[in-house]
Amino acid sequence: MSSGIEFKTSMSFRYGEAAGLGPGVVRLVAENPGPFTFKGTNTYIVGSTELAVIDPGPDDEKHIGDILRVAAGRPITHILITHTHRDHVDNAAALKAATGALTAGYSRSNVSRGTIASSPSGTEFVDIEFAPDIELAHGDVLSGADWSMTALHTPGHAPDHICYALDGREILFSGDHVMAWNTTVVAPPEGRMADYLTSLQILLGRPERTYLPGHGGRIEDAQRMVKAYLLHRRWREQAIVAAIRDGRSTVREVAELIYDSLDPKLHNAALLSVMAHVEHLIEREMVTAAGALSFDQRLAPSGAARST
Ligand SMILES: [Zn+2]
Repeated sequence: MSSGIEFKTSMSFRYGEAAGLGPGVVRLVAENPGPFTFKGTNTYIVGSTELAVIDPGPDDEKHIGDILRVAAGRPITHILITHTHRDHVDNAAALKAATGALTAGYSRSNVSRGTIASSPSGTEFVDIEFAPDIELAHGDVLSGADWSMTALHTPGHAPDHICYALDGREILFSGDHVMAWNTTVVAPPEGRMADYLTSLQILLGRPERTYLPGHGGRIEDAQRMVKAYLLHRRWREQAIVAAIRDGRSTVREVAELIYDSLDPKLHNAALLSVMAHVEHLIEREMVTAAGALSFDQRLAPSGAARST
């Protein structure tokens, strides 16, 4: 099944080398490439005299050294976290210890969903212990000497996900909510499709034209990308409804039909992605499950799905 989206799978960068992405915005890529992280986690350093670091990356001493080298003695006052997945947050404690910066993010204690047991890559990938110094809510503004950012709570990929809008610059640090190299993984219970779609809608109509994501290269014409992702999920949902109506009766059977060729490393993620859609269909009473949702639970169309 074609995705209907043109992915941007090239990215010019070198590990350890700072890339300027406009006045006061620098990107460093951490060296943790993989099927879920693309080339690695992007760390952004924002400001000219006092700096904010967005997503210090995975536990990696060399990456801390690179961040401090880019800072070149300028104070790092804030460490902003897009979400508490380990590839984004694990370096926060060491960077805080080295700089005295305050950490900021959405408090995981405010979310009821999510678990460390549900990683699409099969490892513990959420730091549920992380507690930011500054707990952000949707619309909160953080500022330094020459930058100001507005927090947008955008759950879906993770219940605590925040995008940061760089005020006055039409730039959004989009974390893992919107990326150009691949679709965002929405894997229940950490991810929730209904939240993800609502969080895409939040971005529609906002002024930001350029997105700087948590993995992969920058996104220009970001509004078009957000619309394409909404459309992609609508198509995917329609394909899933059609499959269930045609007699595929479990998440596993549906996934086998709609993902015809799949890297074995991504198989679990595909199952979880179909499960996220099915969960959303159950919430709207378009599909029923015979019991608790799992990859092999029996599914049946109901209501609108049966009659369309
Ligand atoms: Zn990530």
